[in-house]
Amino acid sequence: MPNSLIIAIDGPSGSGKSSVSRAVATELGLDYLDTGSMYRAMTWFIQELGIDVNDAQMVAKSAKADLIQPSIDPSEPGIRVAGRDVSLEIRGPEVTQGVSAVSAVPEVRSLMVNLQREIASNSKPGIVVEGRDICAVVLPEAPVRLFITADPDARANRRAKENGAEVTTTQADLEKRDLADSTRAVSPLEIAPGARVIDTTYMELSEVIAQVVDIARAANG
Ligand code: C5P
Repeated sequence: MPNSLIIAIDGPSGSGKSSVSRAVATELGLDYLDTGSMYRAMTWFIQELGIDVNDAQMVAKSAKADLIQPSIDPSEPGIRVAGRDVSLEIRGPEVTQGVSAVSAVPEVRSLMVNLQREIASNSKPGIVVEGRDICAVVLPEAPVRLFITADPDARANRRAKENGAEVTTTQADLEKRDLADSTRAVSPLEIAPGARVIDTTYMELSEVIAQVVDIARAANG
C-alpha cells in the first residue's frame, strides 16, 4: 500500500478488533500495534514490583515507558518488558484484573500515548493501531478511524471460546472492565466523534476484515 497509511481502531474487549486489526495489517503489508498489550505489560511490571495496582501514586512513580517493548509485526505479535518476553503472562487473570486500574492513572496514559505516537510516526509501511482511545486521543488525525463493537453476549461468547473459559465468568469480567474503562476520568472508552462504527455481532470475521480493507483502500486513494 503506498504512503504511510495509519488506521486507528478502537472498541471494547471481545469485539473482534484484535483479530481484525492483525488480519488487516497482514493483508495490507502494514505494521500492527496492540496498545492493550502495552497497558497489560505495564500492569505486569507494577505487579512484579509488588505494588498495589490501586495505589495510583506508587503506580505513577514506578511507571517507565522505555521498559515497554511491543512487537509491531502482525505475524508475530508479542511484548517484552526490559527484554523479557511477557506475552503469555500479560494474558493471565492477575494482569487482566489489574489492568483497568493501572491504565486509569494519568501518568501511565501519557507515557503510553507518547510511545504509541512515536511508534506510529516511525512506521515506514504504515500501521494499524488498536485500543480504546486511539481515534480520540492517540491518533486523532488518522485517515481511517473505526470503532469495532458487538453485543455484550456475543463478545463474552467469543472471549470465552478464545480462552477456553466459562461464559458467565467471562461476561462478568468483561462487564466490569467495560464499566471501569468507560467511566474513568482520563480518556474513557467511547466512540470518538467522526469514527465509523462497525457492529460485528452478526458478521463473520472475514466479512469485517474485508470491509475494513475496503475502507482503508478507499481512504488511501
Ligand atoms: O485490549 P485489551 O483488553 O488487551 O486491553 C486491556 C486493558 O487496557 C483495557 O481493559 C483498558 O483498561 C486498557 N487499555 C486502555 N487504552 C488502550 C488500550 C487498552 O486503557 N488504548
